[in-house]
Amino acid sequence: MSVEVEVVQGDITRIAVDAIVNAANEGLRGGGGVDGAIHRAGGPAIMAECRALGGCATGDAKATTAGDLPARHVIHAVGPVWHGGDRGEDDLLASAYRRSVEVAVQLDCSSISFPAISTGIYGFPIERAAPIALSTALAAAGAAGGDRLLVFVLFSAGDLEVYRAAL
Ligand code: ADP
Repeated sequence: MSVEVEVVQGDITRIAVDAIVNAANEGLRGGGGVDGAIHRAGGPAIMAECRALGGCATGDAKATTAGDLPARHVIHAVGPVWHGGDRGEDDLLASAYRRSVEVAVQLDCSSISFPAISTGIYGFPIERAAPIALSTALAAAGAAGGDRLLVFVLFSAGDLEVYRAAL
């Protein structure tokens, strides 16, 4: 029983894992950023499944299949919009990572990739988000038991450095 963590720079749609976590919105309607990239690369099957899910609350996560992506599932996680940090953002971000791991584990996924949820359009400062992402996902995977590989995929070299420092 072990949990391994990798922190890499790249495009999350190009890395093969069992489950790719998406930084989605409450409507599961698709959008810009990593969400747009996942739907573009995965094809229309993912959006067709999303429409049937009836949305997803902030802090929660729901799964679809992965369409044309090199994965079995996409886990659509909804992180909080940043409002300055006094509106429960930290807990909601942690919850989004915890629920993503729980849903992936329920689907028997051993390798899971994560983007830096909420740190793009939603404005959550990445220096504050990184330790929450790493510690919460690690704790949830540890609690689930079994062998897991958690891959944190950062789009920019600067974001990669922030995650390396947080590790
Ligand atoms: P949110 O709305 O949750 O803030 P965004 O998609 O705007 O989500 O940003 C989340 C993070 O995903 C940002 O750090 C952004 O740079 C990154 N990102 C965007 N496209 C990709 C991609 N193809 N692979 C990995 N990360 C990506």
